[in-house]
Amino acid sequence: MTYASLPTGYDVVVLGGGVAGCVLAARLSEDPGRSVCLVEAGPDYGPRPADWPEKVRNSRALPRDDVWERHTAFYRIRARVLGGSSCINGAWNTWGSHADHAEWTEAGGERWSAAALEPYRSRAVERMGLRTVPDHELSPWASAALAAARELGYGEVDMGRPGGPGYGRPLINSVDGLRWNAAFAYLDPATRSRPNLTVLDGALVDRLSVRGGRVLGAHIVREGRPVTLTADTYVLASGTFGSPGVLLRSGIGPAAHLRDIGVRCELDLPGVGANLSDQPGVFVPLAPTDDLNKALAAKEAAGELYVSRMLVRAAGPSCPDGAWDLHLLPTAGPPLFGGLPPGQYEAGISAFLMKPASRGHVRLRSADPLEPPEIDPAFLTDPAGRDLATLRAGLEKVDQLAQALRTLASPSDGAPVRGLSDAGLRERVGTYWHPVGTCAMGPGEDPRAVVDGQGSVHGVRGLRVVDASILPTVPAANTQLPVLAVAEMLADTLRH
Ligand SMILES: Cc1cc2nc3c(=O)[nH]c(=O)nc-3n(C[C@H](O)[C@H](O)[C@H](O)COP(=O)(O)OP(=O)(O)OC[C@H]3O[C@@H](n4cnc5c(N)ncnc54)[C@H](O)[C@@H]3O)c2cc1C
Repeated sequence: MTYASLPTGYDVVVLGGGVAGCVLAARLSEDPGRSVCLVEAGPDYGPRPADWPEKVRNSRALPRDDVWERHTAFYRIRARVLGGSSCINGAWNTWGSHADHAEWTEAGGERWSAAALEPYRSRAVERMGLRTVPDHELSPWASAALAAARELGYGEVDMGRPGGPGYGRPLINSVDGLRWNAAFAYLDPATRSRPNLTVLDGALVDRLSVRGGRVLGAHIVREGRPVTLTADTYVLASGTFGSPGVLLRSGIGPAAHLRDIGVRCELDLPGVGANLSDQPGVFVPLAPTDDLNKALAAKEAAGELYVSRMLVRAAGPSCPDGAWDLHLLPTAGPPLFGGLPPGQYEAGISAFLMKPASRGHVRLRSADPLEPPEIDPAFLTDPAGRDLATLRAGLEKVDQLAQALRTLASPSDGAPVRGLSDAGLRERVGTYWHPVGTCAMGPGEDPRAVVDGQGSVHGVRGLRVVDASILPTVPAANTQLPVLAVAEMLADTLRH
C-alpha cells in the first residue's frame, strides 16, 4: 500500500483512543505549545454524552456493538470506539495490593510504588468522577452478601486503595445508570476545543515505519485512504491485544514470528506479544428463591438493578501475607449471556484468580491489520498447577459465602462445580476481562522486557507504549483505574 503524507507533523501522535489514549491526549494537549493527534480505529460519537448510543451510556449492562469482533470467544472481546473498553465495561474500579507495586517497582523503578502512584490514582479518581456505590444501587442480593461477608469474619476495606483482604463496594464511573466513560471524562468539550488537539476517529493504525532504531512515521488507513502521520514522539495505546499487533506489523518482535508472517525484522524483541496474563474465574450458579426474583424484579422496575455491586478480596494458599489473590463476586440480575423469561434472574458467585501464574500470548496470523490476531490466554495452564489450586481454594470460599446466603438462593442442580476435574474446571473457566503484559515493562537486560519504566520501547528512539499491555503482572484489581493512573503518571514523564 502507498501512503500519502499529511502536510504537517505533530509533536506527539497517540495511537489508540481507549482508556490510556484519552488520558494521554487530554494531559499532553494541556500545553498549548504541544500539538497532539489522537488516532482511534472506532467511531467518535462526539463531545455530548447525550449523542452517544443508549447501549454505550447504559451502565446496567455490558454492550457488544462497538467491538473488534461481534461473534467471538468471550476472552477476546475488546472495544473499538473512542473511550475504548471504558465504553463497554462494568464501570467499576478497584486498586491492587502492595505486593503488586513491589512487582512493578522491580520492573520499572520507584515511580511504580504505591506512594509514587498515589497522586496519579487520586487525579484519575477525580477526573473520572469515581464514587463508591451508593446504598440505593445495592440489590437485595448485594446487601445480603455484604452482611454475609461480615458474618464470615471479613473486615470492611476501601476497594479504591491498597490495603488487605476484606469486603466492600467498588468505586464506580456511573451516575444513575449512565456509564461515564474515559472519552466523556477526558475529552470533554473544553478539551476537544483546543486548537492543538486533533482527534482522528475511524482511523486504523496499520504499522510504524522504523529504520535504524527510529520511527519515521505511522501508517494509518482512514476512510479507505492510506495516510502517514509524522511526529517527534509516537505513543502506542492500542491496548493489550492491539499494541503488540502494531509493533509486530512494524517489524518489532520475535524474529522467528516476524519471519512466519512475512514481516522484515527491524528489532528482535522476543517479549512482544508474550506474557499475556488475564484473570480467569468460574461462576457458581445458585437458584434464586421466588422472593429474591420478586425483589430483583422490583429493583429492575425502578431502573436500579445492577448485577454486581460488592466484592470480597480473599487470599488463597500461596498468597503473600497481607495481600489477596482472589475476588469473590456475587452477581444477580439478567444473565450476561442468553436470556430468561420476565421476572426470572440469574444469581451466583464467581471466584476470580487475581494473580494468575499462567501466561498466554498474542500473535498475528498475517501482516493484514484487519485480520483478527491469535489470542491464547492459556488459562489454568501454569506447570506447577498453582492457578488450579488457588481456584479450588476460591471455590471453597464461594461455598461458604453461598451457605451464608442460602435463604435467598440455593445451589442449582444443573451445573455443579464442586468436585469438577481439572479439565472440567478449564471448560467452565471465564474471564474478568483484565488482560495485560504483552509489551511488558522491565530492565533492558531482561530479554522479555519490551519497554522501560517510562514506557519507552527498548532499542527504538521516540517510541513509547502506554496502556494495559506494559503491566508486567496484573494487579489484584480490576484494571481500569490502574491503567488510568499509569497513563496519568506516564503523561507527566512525557510533559517534562
Ligand atoms: C467486557 C469488558 C469488561 C471490563 N470490565 C471492567 C471493569 O468493570 N472494571 C475495570 O477496572 N476494568 C474492566 N475492564 C478492563 C478495562 O476496560 C481495561 O483494562 C482498560 O480499558 C484498558 O485500557 P487500554 O487503554 O489499555 O485499552 P482499551 O481501553 O481497550 O483501548 C484500546 C483502544 O485502542 C484502539 N485500537 C486498537 N488497535 C488499534 C489500531 N490498530 N488502530 C487504531 N486503534 C486501535 C481500540 O479500538 C481501543 O479503543 C473490562 C474490559 C472488557 C473488555
